[in-house]
Amino acid sequence: MGRLAGKSAFVTGGGRGIGLAIVKAFLAEGANVSASGRGERPDDVDDPVSWFQVDVTDAEAMNDTGAFCKGMDILVNNAGVQIEKTITDTTDADWDHVMGTNARGVFNACRAFIPHMATGGSIINIGSISGHVADPQMALYNASKAFVHGLTRSIAVDHGPDIRCNAICPGWIETGMLEAGFDLAEDPTRAKADALARHATRRFGRPEDIAAMAVWLASDEAGFATGQLFTVDGGMTAASPINPGLM
Ligand code: NDP
Repeated sequence: MGRLAGKSAFVTGGGRGIGLAIVKAFLAEGANVSASGRGERPDDVDDPVSWFQVDVTDAEAMNDTGAFCKGMDILVNNAGVQIEKTITDTTDADWDHVMGTNARGVFNACRAFIPHMATGGSIINIGSISGHVADPQMALYNASKAFVHGLTRSIAVDHGPDIRCNAICPGWIETGMLEAGFDLAEDPTRAKADALARHATRRFGRPEDIAAMAVWLASDEAGFATGQLFTVDGGMTAASPINPGLM
């Protein structure tokens, strides 16, 4: 018996990266899994998964999806986008893209699913350490994740005890997003080596590291955990900013 046997789960952005790892981990733990993305079902998504082609920025489509997926036990709001810009370089279109997906998209999905979720349900929002500390040149992304963290607490307070709601705040996880971050650096190889040295684990995260936390939060083992932000970052933000080499 898996830790999620008998439970049903919906994962937004479940076709690649962290979302796909969560889909696979949930399947391995016995859940009945549905996943979504803007495009057609990717080849990597295993057969038992029900695929929904739906954009989280489309409130009406999300409402229809939430109503269709009655009795869901677990909702994972993973879909997210990143742009690398300061506030003065950011356009209105950038606002719509980043806030529309990362903030409005999470709002759309929660509003659509909560009325139809099973009692004892668990919502897991994928926030970020960028919602705690500012990554340079990612003004809107950082702000969008701080929104996710705030909404997480409100949902936990307003919809407990029927629903638990928590956020996972990943650090640097090896997906396309991580590479896009390093591409900003003048010397990406040096920037990567410096970043690695700041990890107590001396490695970046893998999508499976986040999926493992998602399994726990989705399971009954986490029955007393709600309204919290769980950082999984290899110890990076635990470190003092003081350079130990100069002390
Ligand atoms: P990827 O770019 O690999 O995946 C993003 C996923 O989001 C894709 O499945 C994409 O699907 C989906 N998506 C994007 N926009 C929409 C939309 N409008 N509607 C539906 N689905 C959408 O990113 P990661 O796996 O790295 O990131 C997943 C989450 O983790 C994000 O919320 C991200 O902010 C967060 N995160 C990632 C970190 C990292 O280091 N990688 C660190 C901290 C947080 P499709 O394109 O098919 O629509």
